[in-house]
Amino acid sequence: MKTVFAKSVPGRTGVLPPSPEQSVSDMLPADLLRRKRPALPELSELDVVRHYSLLSHRNFSVDTNFYPLGSCTMKYNPKFCETASALPGFAHTHPLLPQIEGGEPFAAGCLKAVWECERLLREVTGMHAFTMQPMAGAQGELTGILLIAAYHRAKGNKKTKVICPDSAHGTNPATAALAGYEVVNIASQNGMIDPDALAAVLDDSVAALMMTCPNTLGLFEAHLPLIVEKLRAADALLYYDGANFNAIMGRMRTGDAGFDVVHLNLHKTMGTPHGGGGPGAGPVGVAERLAPFLPGPRVVKNSDGSFGLNHDLPHSIGKIAPFYGNFAIVIRALAYMLRLGGNGLARATSYAVLNANYMRARLRDHLEIPYDRACMHEFVASASALDTYGVHALDLAKALLDKGFHAPTIYFPLIVKECLMFEPTETESKETLDAFCDELIAIVERAKKNPREILDAPLTLPVRRLDETRAARNMVLTEA
Ligand SMILES: *Cc1c(COP(=O)(O)O)cnc(C)c1O
Repeated sequence: MKTVFAKSVPGRTGVLPPSPEQSVSDMLPADLLRRKRPALPELSELDVVRHYSLLSHRNFSVDTNFYPLGSCTMKYNPKFCETASALPGFAHTHPLLPQIEGGEPFAAGCLKAVWECERLLREVTGMHAFTMQPMAGAQGELTGILLIAAYHRAKGNKKTKVICPDSAHGTNPATAALAGYEVVNIASQNGMIDPDALAAVLDDSVAALMMTCPNTLGLFEAHLPLIVEKLRAADALLYYDGANFNAIMGRMRTGDAGFDVVHLNLHKTMGTPHGGGGPGAGPVGVAERLAPFLPGPRVVKNSDGSFGLNHDLPHSIGKIAPFYGNFAIVIRALAYMLRLGGNGLARATSYAVLNANYMRARLRDHLEIPYDRACMHEFVASASALDTYGVHALDLAKALLDKGFHAPTIYFPLIVKECLMFEPTETESKETLDAFCDELIAIVERAKKNPREILDAPLTLPVRRLDETRAARNMVLTEA
C-alpha cells in the first residue's frame, strides 16, 4: 500500500473552511514563523478517508477480530463509554480553568465526576481511598510501591525487600527495583504461591508482597487468607496487581480480602480499549492507614456538597502525573460502572470466567493444559507436545492470524514451557469461541501432519515473519 506521501498530487485539497480575515501568521511574531512550507501530502478528503480506513483494517483489533490475548484483557468496550467521555463539557474543558473568586472551581462538574469515579471504585474494591492520577498499570504499581515505602518510612520500619512470585508480570519486579527495593522471587507450587516458600523468605526486612489474583495462570490464590496473616505478622503489606480484576469484579472486594494497596487497569477492565500504547489509567486504592501518603491534589467534597481540591497534604508522596491523570478514561470507567451497576459488573465477571472455562474444556483434548482445573478468566496451555514436529507456540500463534484471529499471549507466564495464554473475555459469544477453538484444533492437527504449512504462516498478511529484534531496533517506517 502506498503512503500518503506517495499518493500526494500538488494542488489537491479537501474542503477548506473560508479563510479567516486575519491569518494566524499575521498574529504570530515573525521570528516564530516557518521559513519553508512543511512537506505535507496534498490529497482530497476522500483519498485521506480511504487511505486510513483501509490501513486500519490491516490491524487486528477487538472491533474487527477475536483477540484472546491473555493478561491483557482485550475485550469489546461499549461505545457509550466513548460517547460519555466525548461530551463537550468533558472533552473541551481544561484542567487549568480558573477558580471562581470565593466559589467552586469552574471545572466543578469534572471534579465531581472524578470524585464519583473514586467513590464507585472504593465501593467495588472495598478500599478506603483512591488516586486517579497514574496513567498506566505500571505507573500505578510504582505509585503503590512508593506509598508502601512512605508508610514504612513514617513508621520507622527498615524495609529493603519486595517479594514477587515467579508467575508475576515483569512490571512487578521492575517496579520494586525502580523504587529501590531488592526483589525476592519465590517459586510457585501447583501454580500458586506456596505459603512455605513465602515463610522461608519472609522476615522484618520485607516491605511487601506483590500479588496478581487470580494470577497470570488464571488461578485464584487458594492460600490468600494464610498469606495475609503471615504478612501482617511481619508488618509487610500486600499489594494487589489489578490487571486481572476482570475475574473478580463485583464478586470479591480486595479490601475485604486484606489487600493494602491495589491498582486497577481501567483500560483492561472498565470501558477503555487497551492497546496501541495507551492512553491508559491505573488508579491506586489504599487501606486507611496509607491514605495520608496519596498523591495530591486530592478531589474533595465539601460539607456544603460542593467540590474542590485539597493541596494541603503534608505526607503525600507528591505528584505522579499531571492533574487527575487521563481524565477521559476516568469518565469512561464512571460511565461503565453506572451503566452496568453492581449486578452488571458481577455478571460480566461470571461470563469472563465461564467463557475461559468453556474454551479450556474445548481445547484440553488437543493441547496440554498444565493446570487443568477450574480457572478464572484466563488459562494457559502448552504446545510442548508439538516439539517433535518442530512446531512451537509461536507457529500456532502465526497460523491463527491467517484465520482472522488474533493470537493468544505466548511465552508468558515464564513458568510454562511453550506457553499459550487465552483470555476470551466476557464479551464474546459462544459462536465466536467455537469458531476459534475449531480453527486452533485444526491448526494443531495440521501441525502434526504437515508442519511446513504452519511454519510458513502467516501466508495471507502484508508482512510474513519478521526478525522481531531487528524490526524493533531498526524500524523502517517508510514505504519499502
Ligand atoms: C498489563 C499488566 C500490567 C501492566 O499494566 P500496563 O497498564 O500495561 O502498564 C501489570 N500486571 C499485569 C498482570 C498485567 O497484565
